[in-house]
Amino acid sequence: MKDKDCIFCKIAAGEIPSATLYEDDDFRVILDLGPASKGHALIIPKEHYRNLYDIDDEVAAKAIVLAKKMVNKMKDVLGCDGYNIVQNNEETAGQTVFHFHMHMIPRYKGDNVGLGWHTGELTDEVKNEILEKMK
Ligand code: AMP
Ligand code: ZN
Repeated sequence: MKDKDCIFCKIAAGEIPSATLYEDDDFRVILDLGPASKGHALIIPKEHYRNLYDIDDEVAAKAIVLAKKMVNKMKDVLGCDGYNIVQNNEETAGQTVFHFHMHMIPRYKGDNVGLGWHTGELTDEVKNEILEKMK
């Protein structure tokens, strides 16, 4: 399925030009226009899925295998020191384009890429509540 109003559907289909690093029947991999670091790229499926909540299982599985292939090549090309894979779901979690995509963010020693969180504490109350509800 495609969404006629979705920018990533148009980019994936090649209707809007992009800096394409890789393409196959299922995906286009492009450089992010607002990179967090040099080489920040996006894996975009050609079919439209809003996010991880509704992506097809087979496409999701292929996406992580493609991420593995891409970061293995790009770490050598870029000479970076690490990689973050980031995938945002819904506005509260930072999703701004509502077509599933995975960020591949190269990391360089001393960079100021602001990914991370302050660690809290897993209390017995919360742990037990979630374990109970997940049964
Ligand atoms: P997210 O916030 O996870 O939805 O990520 C959307 C990403 O898409 C951001 O990192 C944007 O910089 C990037 N982006 C938006 N429009 C374009 C575009 N036309 N070409 C490349 N990257 C884009
Ligand atoms: Zn789309």
